[in-house]
Amino acid sequence: MRSLQASPAGESSLKSSASDNQGTALVLRDISFRYDGGSRALDGIDVTVEAGTTLAIVGPSGAGKSTLLRVIAGLLEPQRGELFLSGAQLHGVPARERRVALVFQDDALFPTMSVRKNLQFALRRSNESGAVENIARALHVDVHLDRMPRDLSGGERQRVALARALLSEPHALLLDEPLAHLDPSLRARVRETLREMRAHFAGPIVYVTHDHAEAMMVSDVLGVLVGGRLEDIGSPQRVYDAPANVRAAAALGVPPMNLLHEVNRIIGIRPEHVRFVSEGALRGHVLRRELAGDVTLVTVQTERGVVVASARAVHEAPHPGDSVGLFFPEECVRCFDAASGAAIA
Ligand code: ADP
Repeated sequence: MRSLQASPAGESSLKSSASDNQGTALVLRDISFRYDGGSRALDGIDVTVEAGTTLAIVGPSGAGKSTLLRVIAGLLEPQRGELFLSGAQLHGVPARERRVALVFQDDALFPTMSVRKNLQFALRRSNESGAVENIARALHVDVHLDRMPRDLSGGERQRVALARALLSEPHALLLDEPLAHLDPSLRARVRETLREMRAHFAGPIVYVTHDHAEAMMVSDVLGVLVGGRLEDIGSPQRVYDAPANVRAAAALGVPPMNLLHEVNRIIGIRPEHVRFVSEGALRGHVLRRELAGDVTLVTVQTERGVVVASARAVHEAPHPGDSVGLFFPEECVRCFDAASGAAIA
């Protein structure tokens, strides 16, 4: 059976041996899950997350990200496939015995307990002295130990939730949009904390988010989930630069890769690689021009479809109604098979 291996070395590799489920790796083999009466939320997920590796799964809302984490955590039993953690089969093992910690976007702490009590409550070995203080220090919440959760900022609460998850000594850590409700400066802080946390947690981490930039920042390995299928997996750079198929290309990037249909193939070019030129094989007129932080997005109607370009300098961005030529640098163009959508080497 074909399975994709996620490892810090980056690229996915084909693996077929039974040795997948050794060490502290998290192994998913051909996992499918369907809700009662619903359509298939996960369809044949094959992935190995090695110890020390953070796998980020990015995908649009409804892609199956939360379902995937719930299946790994044991809150849902898949109808098909196998799961291994640290070499042990997880099928039939109740969630509380799985040694898997799941942290949600606004993970509830016990509101009537101090931060210290919240953390002590999670301790696996309650006699271990100093564990709470050590983890609290690592996640920069030690100064808040005697405060109540309601007196913390969102970012501080999230770091306490992470500390609590680590104190349960999980073999795998699952993070479900952990930064979704934080403002940008707090997000940066918690991301930094996540990196530092690696010194205290050597197991596999699965991190799901709909935010592709965040996924690329936190991950050693990036997976793209669309409609319950893992459409691509590999190093974040490779997946972004050369997606395995049009579905992964369209799901990653804001705005996503432009896809232009030709007779037998589909041409892909990311907005930041499109250049404006006075002479160009492809001409069009500008429909919209939008400021998007440090870039200006320009939407151009061409005879081959709509193309979005992102211009670094605002003065380089043409205006609505302008007639422009577009140039796609050859090294930035990706080609996909028109029928299957698969990348053509
Ligand atoms: P994501 O986390 O990527 O937004 P989910 O895993 O929540 O996606 O959902 C995947 C699919 O399963 C969606 O089509 C969603 O509507 C459906 N789904 C999620 N939860 C339930 C449920 N409890 N019952 C039925 N369908 C569900």
